[in-house]
Amino acid sequence: MTDIDWTKALCLGCDREMWFVEGSTSDANADRREAKTTCLRCPIRSGCLDSAMAEEDGKGESGRHGIRGGLSGRQRFALSRRLPGAQPKQGRAA
Ligand code: SF4
Repeated sequence: MTDIDWTKALCLGCDREMWFVEGSTSDANADRREAKTTCLRCPIRSGCLDSAMAEEDGKGESGRHGIRGGLSGRQRFALSRRLPGAQPKQGRAA
């Protein structure tokens, strides 16, 4: 994997809680949107997402925490299902 210069992360110095907010209140949703918007402007977003996908390889949705590379854990899980070599969903015909 390419070296990532984490010192360029736009979330550095931010309220990191926004990247790990739980629940679906309007405040929680606003925090998530703000975190994702920050990620979209981040110069290392691609590397951040690649890193998350590599670290979380093989994990289910519940094993993916926080927003990384602009995607929630649920979105990263959905992305992992579309990648080459993804296992078919359990309980469904292949
Ligand atoms: S993409 Fe988002 S989570 Fe990743 S380093 Fe940048 S601001 Fe932080």
